[in-house]
Amino acid sequence: MELSHVLTYLAESAAIALRADAAAVCLLDESGTRLSVAAIHGLPAELLDRGPQEIQSCALDREAMSSRAAVVADAQHGPLELPGQDFRAGLCTPLIHEGQPVGTLHVYATVPERFSEDDAVTLRPLVDLGVAAITATRAMAELEALEANQAQFIRVMTHELRSPVVVAQSLVRNVLEGYAGKLTDKQADVFTRINRRLDGLENLINDLLDLAAGKALGPAEEGPVVLNASIGRVVLLLQPRAEDKSLEMTFQSCRDQLVVRGTEEGLDRVFVNVVGNAVKYTSPGGAVAVSVQQVDGQAQVEVADTGIGIPEEALPHLFEEFYRAPNAKKTEVGTGLGLAIVKDLVERYGGRIQVKSTVGVGTTFTVTLPLLSTGAV
Ligand code: ADP
Repeated sequence: MELSHVLTYLAESAAIALRADAAAVCLLDESGTRLSVAAIHGLPAELLDRGPQEIQSCALDREAMSSRAAVVADAQHGPLELPGQDFRAGLCTPLIHEGQPVGTLHVYATVPERFSEDDAVTLRPLVDLGVAAITATRAMAELEALEANQAQFIRVMTHELRSPVVVAQSLVRNVLEGYAGKLTDKQADVFTRINRRLDGLENLINDLLDLAAGKALGPAEEGPVVLNASIGRVVLLLQPRAEDKSLEMTFQSCRDQLVVRGTEEGLDRVFVNVVGNAVKYTSPGGAVAVSVQQVDGQAQVEVADTGIGIPEEALPHLFEEFYRAPNAKKTEVGTGLGLAIVKDLVERYGGRIQVKSTVGVGTTFTVTLPLLSTGAV
């Protein structure tokens, strides 16, 4: 609920509680010396546009800020500074959070002698609610500003960290391809190892930034995405890597277009990770089979490989950040972050991910996502 709604409710409820004709809530600005009208009841709307007023210019506010509550019994004998209004009595009570004033609550009546200081006690629960709403909203605004800063920091870091690694990778590959002259076997071996390390570093940076970005940037704008297209793209992207390892990669799409909730980038990231793992953890000569189908009104993607498999005791930890099974550590470089990101994204899109595996035989990951619609391709 918005702060303005809560404050309007506060003004309304205060007027009802004290059988007053009008009420207003004023908030103190950052300078601590000016008050702005933030909500009204029974008063002209123009008051909301009046802009901040110096506390010193309003006797009622001045008094309320320095004591518990200020009462004007009869405006004919005391100050009631509301231009153009016919009120005879007023009560102003401070809104205080942890000893610091954050604003004031005013109530007005057209008859004199309407309020006493005891009425401020009647208003106490309402005032406390108002104060809680004001401080919670301000804390939220500060948090949002912090998150926006963090998101900006991650964008800058993404660029700053990735760029030098990508440049180094490209230089090392050039050297390996012989652009800097023929390499001795020993030199080629060293550069191949550097290349592998750089790939690992790039993966780590990508995974860390994905993880941080996912948490800091919050869910991106989600919409309908054609799942078949996402999987098709990923298979195409990873086909050369599979061929390099002499793996047979097959893709079985379904006849209908399966439309799911998500973002293209997010779904691509999910399947690049899952299919990429299948390729990574399968030895040369093996196979990776990717299929998309509609099962019980849901979209189901299966990624099955004939790779190293996952030990049973590792299965419960697979989606934990930085977890890597011992047999994977022995064979491949990795960060243990990919599946944590995958699970986070899949669940964000309302789906789930399951895994079945036998060591030395192979692994099948199944991603199930709720279907938004289907249509002919
Ligand atoms: P990484 O691959 O960088 O280690 P992931 O988070 O992608 O990290 O995967 C976590 C762990 O799950 C891997 O380290 C590995 O032990 C296991 N794993 C994931 N996919 C497979 C697969 N297709 N075959 C065997 N093990 C897998």
